[in-house]
Amino acid sequence: MSKTHLAVGIAAALTVSPARTVGGVFAAVIGGALGGVLCDVECKTPPDARDIFAGQMGAGCLTVMLLCADAIMRAGLWDSIRSQNLYALMLGVLSVILLTSLGHLTAHRSFTHSLLYVGLLAFGLSLVSPMLLYPALAGGISHLSLDTLNKKSVPWLYPIDRNGFCLKLCRADKTANAVFFWLGFGASVALLAFKANALFVH
Ligand SMILES: [Zn+2]
Repeated sequence: MSKTHLAVGIAAALTVSPARTVGGVFAAVIGGALGGVLCDVECKTPPDARDIFAGQMGAGCLTVMLLCADAIMRAGLWDSIRSQNLYALMLGVLSVILLTSLGHLTAHRSFTHSLLYVGLLAFGLSLVSPMLLYPALAGGISHLSLDTLNKKSVPWLYPIDRNGFCLKLCRADKTANAVFFWLGFGASVALLAFKANALFVH
């Protein structure tokens, strides 16, 4: 479910991102959240669509809040966005909008659940700020990994292999979902505390 993808995406991004500055931590949270939820843009049928919309709204609110905090604190993420070439910045924003719009039109768990989509999404976000590249990749790959555990195939290598595979270990809306949500949430809080300690105490 979407809040699990959000929590695990952020935890995965904080794990792979060096995030040696406050702006780096903000970028890790934003990239992990967006990478974690934007694979499900293709889901259009309720009740899944409602859950996914809520997750995307959560990631959107988190992005706006952290960008505002970064601007106030001058933590570095805005500076990295402002230092981007204007054409690259516009291409990045446009490519993310086009990619997610195109993804919305595709079949459930096809293009948007592939390494190709995750890579293109991360590349688009990296044109907005290079600090978002690895967090978005980590968030997207965490999404594909979680979905692979349940009962509908994930086409990691789409379009080379459109069938993909799944491990059929659990259902998306049952106990495993709650377990992974709390694991992701707990890991995110622990990693944020660890990075805050490194940034502010030492
Ligand atoms: Zn999914």
